[in-house]
Amino acid sequence: CGIVGYTGKNQAVNFLVEGLKTLEYRGYDSAGVEVLSTDGELHGVKCAGRVAVLEERCKTANPVGTTGIAHTRWATHGAPTDKNAHPHRDCSGRIAIVHNGIIENYRELRSYLSRNGHEFASDTDSEVIAHLIEDAWAGPAKGDLLTAVRNACRRLEGSWAIAAVCADAPGQIVVARNGSPLVVASAADGAYCASDVTPLASVTSHVIQLENGQFGRLSQAGEVEVFDSEGLPVAEPSAIDIDWD
Ligand code: GLU
Repeated sequence: CGIVGYTGKNQAVNFLVEGLKTLEYRGYDSAGVEVLSTDGELHGVKCAGRVAVLEERCKTANPVGTTGIAHTRWATHGAPTDKNAHPHRDCSGRIAIVHNGIIENYRELRSYLSRNGHEFASDTDSEVIAHLIEDAWAGPAKGDLLTAVRNACRRLEGSWAIAAVCADAPGQIVVARNGSPLVVASAADGAYCASDVTPLASVTSHVIQLENGQFGRLSQAGEVEVFDSEGLPVAEPSAIDIDWD
């Protein structure tokens, strides 16, 4: 339902939780964050229920790190439970994704992945994305997150906005859009992504709207790059200037 992501100079969890609060109006049943911590591990906190519950749990768990993604879920496949809340991870626990939309061919993908040794931790359609990225990462993408996400998306049918992080690609977030909206923005303190502009109100008035089939790469230095489905840089991505008044 809602996505936010941040990589930059600040602690990610602060923006992630505040950003999810601004997306609450969309309606949701679960919420979660995944922070790429300074020790090079993913640190996830997620639960069924309100963002306020997630916020309390984050205070206790205190995920420290300056790169992270977060999600509010409106369940379409799998009950609204803790384990079905996003983010979802691959088998290695090194890759995490959040997803808005529906993966129509998830049953075929899940049985294909299961036959190839993948074990699933949730009942969602979305989790296949993390496992497809894992296969691509280890195979043709050779450790390049953008290529791995592009390869994974080639297998998907349905609608998606995706944000992905990998513990072995520190400071990076890769996003993809097909059918579900996604915006990215570059600011002085880092790079941001979100499923709509609302969470970015306090951040910037200059936002890039991804088009269907496009990908984005966010770097800790605050850089935002947009790529087409072939992986070629998009010279003039679709920018919007927002008058927050
Ligand atoms: N289809 C996914 C799920 O049920 C994502 C739903 C959403 O957009 O929040 O987990």
